[in-house]
Amino acid sequence: MKAFALGRVIPLVEVSVADSAEQGFTGRDVTAADLPLRDTRSRPLRDLRISVTDRCNFRCIYCMPKDVFGKDYAFLPRHELLSFEEIERVARVFVGLGVEKIRLTGGEPLLRKDLEHLVARLATLRTPQGADVDLTLTTNGSLLGRKAQALRDAGMKRITVSLDAIDEAVFQQMNGVGFSALAVLQGIDAALRAGFAPVKVNMVVKRGVNDAQILPMATHFRGTGVEVRFIEFMDVGASNGWNMESVMPSSEVLNIINASFPLVATRRNTPSDTSVQYRFADGQGKIGVISSVTQPFCGGCTRLRLSSDGHLYTCLFDSRGVDIRNPMRNGRSDGALRQLITDLWMKRADRYSERRGENGVAHARSKVEMSFIGG
Ligand code: SAM
Ligand code: SF4
Ligand code: SF4
Repeated sequence: MKAFALGRVIPLVEVSVADSAEQGFTGRDVTAADLPLRDTRSRPLRDLRISVTDRCNFRCIYCMPKDVFGKDYAFLPRHELLSFEEIERVARVFVGLGVEKIRLTGGEPLLRKDLEHLVARLATLRTPQGADVDLTLTTNGSLLGRKAQALRDAGMKRITVSLDAIDEAVFQQMNGVGFSALAVLQGIDAALRAGFAPVKVNMVVKRGVNDAQILPMATHFRGTGVEVRFIEFMDVGASNGWNMESVMPSSEVLNIINASFPLVATRRNTPSDTSVQYRFADGQGKIGVISSVTQPFCGGCTRLRLSSDGHLYTCLFDSRGVDIRNPMRNGRSDGALRQLITDLWMKRADRYSERRGENGVAHARSKVEMSFIGG
């Protein structure tokens, strides 16, 4: 059991391979006929989100509020983090098991030194069918001006930048450290200049804090080719003081935008897409809404998350992860890692958001922080 910040214990139980056996894992070898791996609800394993650091230079009020993540907060020491070699190895095993899409995240992923070196390694991965892996990154954009070209040169093709307001005062309140919206906008420009396509922008909407920025954000990015995705504020972690009143349902977001710029619904690209897209009727581009609270999409959830200290989480709302770092460091073969992942995925039954939707309240249980496993 590992305890983080004083008084705000986030229990993360380490489950070793030996524990796994006790939990009745199958121990059966995976063959090509087993791919893609399917969980108990027949959802394939397709997406891997890799957190490369638990640290961040922002203190967004909905993610790492500064009264919880203060200067005494115990972040992971360096030796606990997976090295780039270890991340590449785990990613390769996942791709061999049917993963087609990898998203780097954090914490703030661009704080991890030389991240482009990891990108270059991951860009060489190929699916069993010989296709490129869809490799992307979610960043707060603060270091993007400096890093965009190196990331693009290393083989990353698309990118998502988080920006919760255009207005300086509102954005600086949201990010908790007074970081300037203009600097993030400059980072987005740098990504466009470097040739990222598409560039997407994530805006978390918190009612009463930044909802007046919905229209300014839609207006700013209309006609630029950048798609803004409006995200419902979620009850991730145990720190952000979530309640249903602070959630602005996507239906309201759409009404606000539609009143000024008529929207036309488009079809979801794949069942695992988190975002539902709408296009501006006058052809000036698209927006998206991510309705994790009011219209949960657990039924199409094909995502697994790897924390920066090498634990696997099959749901954003998990309270514990399964350790893959120590098996790796203790000399387990790739075959053993494949089996660990297979057993974990095949017994997966997660549907947290659907269950929350059934009673409208967050479940009272300990949950890992989003900054720890990434969005
Ligand atoms: N630091 C990077 C960033 O902010 O883009 C990557 C990590 S962050 C945890 C990933 C995404 O999760 C961001 O787009 C962020 O806005 C979103 N996020 C964090 N906390 C959230 C919450 N409580 N509800 C909804 N989205 C959240
Ligand atoms: Fe940092 Fe991203 Fe969380 Fe904001 S959302 S605190 S930028 S990890
Ligand atoms: Fe996937 Fe869990 Fe989110 Fe449902 S609640 S969509 S299972 S991560």
